[in-house]
Amino acid sequence: MSVRIIEEKCTGCELCLHACPYPGAIEMENNIAKITDNCTLCGACEDECPVGAIEVAKKETKAEVDDSYEGVWVYIEHVDGEPLEVSFELLSKAKELAKDLNTYVGGVLIGDKIKSKANEVFAYGADKLYLVQGSEYKNYNTKLYTHAMDNIIKTYKPEIVLFGATNNGRDLAARVAVRLRTGLTADCTKITIDKEKRLLEQTRPAFGGNIMATILCPIGRPQMATVRPKVMKKDKPDYAKQGEIIEVNLEDKPQELRTRIIDIIQHTTQTVNLEDAEIIVSGGRGLSEPEGFKLIEELAVAIGGAVGASRATVDAGWIPHHHQVGQTGKTVAPKLYIACGISGAIQHMAGMQTSDVIIAINKDPDAPIFDIATYGIVGDLYEVVPALIKEFNNYFETSRKTGDC
Ligand SMILES: Cc1cc2nc3c(=O)[nH]c(=O)nc-3n(C[C@H](O)[C@H](O)[C@H](O)COP(=O)(O)OP(=O)(O)OC[C@H]3O[C@@H](n4cnc5c(N)ncnc54)[C@H](O)[C@@H]3O)c2cc1C
Ligand code: SF4
Ligand code: SF4
Repeated sequence: MSVRIIEEKCTGCELCLHACPYPGAIEMENNIAKITDNCTLCGACEDECPVGAIEVAKKETKAEVDDSYEGVWVYIEHVDGEPLEVSFELLSKAKELAKDLNTYVGGVLIGDKIKSKANEVFAYGADKLYLVQGSEYKNYNTKLYTHAMDNIIKTYKPEIVLFGATNNGRDLAARVAVRLRTGLTADCTKITIDKEKRLLEQTRPAFGGNIMATILCPIGRPQMATVRPKVMKKDKPDYAKQGEIIEVNLEDKPQELRTRIIDIIQHTTQTVNLEDAEIIVSGGRGLSEPEGFKLIEELAVAIGGAVGASRATVDAGWIPHHHQVGQTGKTVAPKLYIACGISGAIQHMAGMQTSDVIIAINKDPDAPIFDIATYGIVGDLYEVVPALIKEFNNYFETSRKTGDC
């Protein structure tokens, strides 16, 4: 497709300038419109021209895939130099995909003095590690990391690149995809390979979680996806496995950064972090008021768990968003998930249904949460939860005295 101005017809009316949604895509030169490199070929200007001076030629091009791209890569996200679990989950998945494609697994690690993590990256499945190091990369920075990823991908041409659907992973993947002019599927819950066509089948919930859509990127390379933490299973590491380290020295690094990290303030809570928790106690609208979360926290503290929440309570401002479990919150897979006053909407269940044991407390015996619960307690949470706290506290107190725990 191309956009052309028929100069003989152009009257310089500038109507196309106002119709174009992309800044700088059309400029006026000597009172005649001129299409620039910023044009995205969207075609919005064509119908606006009153004299038919814009021609959008929809060439029937037979798009071809660049088959020089090879390898399944994982962006190894880290905090303070410690790789996130999702990176290992994705490496485990990448091994499977690479096997189907008969190719290698690559990891990309960007950070400061981070080479020591290479063994772990190889142990979880990488055959090659692309390493970018420098003090400027100590903490995630959108502009620097995008520049690094963009350059490494353009140089080494992987066929597939996976990112964790974390805050930073989502930020980075979207920017890199735009730079590379390729597709990106966000928040995948399943990824497989169409071996014959070498296509990544990227499945994610769509239309409010009511259907699962499988998205393909048939032409653009690499094929890119973000995948939620805890969705893919992490394999056991094999520390005997070795790999090749490719140290990448980048030139033309962006000098002017729009953001600078001044300080990192850890969020402190009496309970453990939601994504790492083996036990989660979640509260829903059945709590009726924000103070209800004190009870949820009390139970969580009693059994060493984290506090989760339904979106209804987050939207109501009862608890911050980072506690939200579900499609637009966190995906969790603890050993024990206790849902208190949560109805079990499909979007909530999407984030917790793979928990090993689910206990639901709800006064409505027909609440959908009971369909997936391992144990269901029909009752008022304001009676059930205090009774559970009392029992657990008694149990742990007795166990402490007898030396059982
Ligand atoms: C695009 C989209 C994305 C979404 N993403 C998410 C998401 O990530 N996470 C999420 O949670 N939701 C999400 N939702 C919202 C979801 O559809 C539900 O609205 C929400 O999960 C309902 O929260 P709830 O179960 O707390 O409230 P409700 O559905 O109102 O359920 C409250 C439950 O509490 C019970 N109850 C009331 N009083 C008591 C009591 N005293 N004791 C015991 N039980 C009691 C009731 O019987 C009821 O079952 C999303 C929706 C959309 C459209
Ligand atoms: S095709 Fe779209 S982006 Fe290009 S000049 Fe026309 S309106 Fe602007
Ligand atoms: S709308 Fe048509 S005539 Fe007017 S400036 Fe644009 S190309 Fe020229």
